[in-house]
Amino acid sequence: MGARLCSNDTTGVSRKRNCLASTERSRTYIFDMTILTIIGARPQFIKAAVVSRTLGAKGVNEMLVHTGQHYDANMSDIFFDELEISPPEHHLRIGGGTHGQNTGRMIEAIEKVLLDTRPDWVLVYGDTDSTLAGAVAAVKLHIPVAHVEAGLRSFNRRMPEEINRVLTDHAASLLFAPTETAVEHLSREGISGASVHMVGDVMYDAALFYGEKAERTSSILVRLNLALGQYALATIHRAENTDNRQRLAAILEGFSGFDSEIVLPLHPRTRGRLATLGLALPGNVRAIDPVGYLDMVMLEKSAALIATDSGGVQKEAFFYRVPCVTLRDETEWSELVAGGWNRLAPPTCGSDISLAMKEALGSKGLEISPYGDGNAASRIADSLIGGVGT
Ligand code: UDP
Repeated sequence: MGARLCSNDTTGVSRKRNCLASTERSRTYIFDMTILTIIGARPQFIKAAVVSRTLGAKGVNEMLVHTGQHYDANMSDIFFDELEISPPEHHLRIGGGTHGQNTGRMIEAIEKVLLDTRPDWVLVYGDTDSTLAGAVAAVKLHIPVAHVEAGLRSFNRRMPEEINRVLTDHAASLLFAPTETAVEHLSREGISGASVHMVGDVMYDAALFYGEKAERTSSILVRLNLALGQYALATIHRAENTDNRQRLAAILEGFSGFDSEIVLPLHPRTRGRLATLGLALPGNVRAIDPVGYLDMVMLEKSAALIATDSGGVQKEAFFYRVPCVTLRDETEWSELVAGGWNRLAPPTCGSDISLAMKEALGSKGLEISPYGDGNAASRIADSLIGGVGT
């Protein structure tokens, strides 16, 4: 395994197919190793896009498995198209069930893929059911797991994401932490040494790579007739908010007390919950369908304020220096709160949310750089190639 250069690879049909794809990308050599990447949800497509491109450029074979956790065209296909991610070799089409159903079915299906392909590494991202299923299926077959975005903690064990990330970290052989804080969290849980790499945040890589492309190609401001700095952008999708009527109602009340227009790309889960809970959006909230990443970046960059319960959107607000209000009780990205770029507004009281949004408008934080230098993907690829931690 690891750093043996070769010019071709003819072991097995799917591997050969992937070898050809990688050869097309790198045009010179490939490493005699195969990485099987498991993704299934919107933020994972974005994170994987930068790492996959780097792996391809460095001549590494990579196979993609899409679990199907997010399956709508505007939650999945658009990211493969826009971010030029190779089509997945395996599409498991598992979604729409409970956490237990999805995770169980994914483990079973991923195990089959792993038995067929026998990769050298399984690469997983973040904190979704797809992350956990990939990690569990791989370690049981003694295939080492590499976890991108390791060490994040909300310390709220009621969040499915927290359970997924803790268990995945403890199963992984290579842990790619985005921040020093994440490294400290791992160390406190007894995970340290050569397996832990502080690489920086791949979402910062993505922001640098696609930020400029978004400026050139996105027409969303014109399409929605939005003026720079004249609106707020909001996202809500976390189960703790969408599945709790009081919290969701408090968020809507908070939005209604904000003076400007709020653009809300509506996650399918939130759209469904609003309907079943019989909650109406306030008049100043403009709901739109979920948008592709380039349009989202443009909406973020041009907003006066962002209000969100998303992990990725909190960081993107900071990347584009837009003040952010986080609609949660706690955040994994605590350095942004400490640095003055983000403030927590727990969705328990509408007027507190409006106040936090008004106070955040126009505010600036400290010049901090907790997320590395934009080369996280390259460090991840080099560590995988080196096989450190196996
Ligand atoms: N995003 C997007 N279109 C949207 C909403 C979000 O491209 O309509 C992007 C956003 O820019 C960020 C990522 O999706 O990069 C965040 O995903 P999400 O909020 O679903 O998950 P989380 O980051 O909370 O895990």
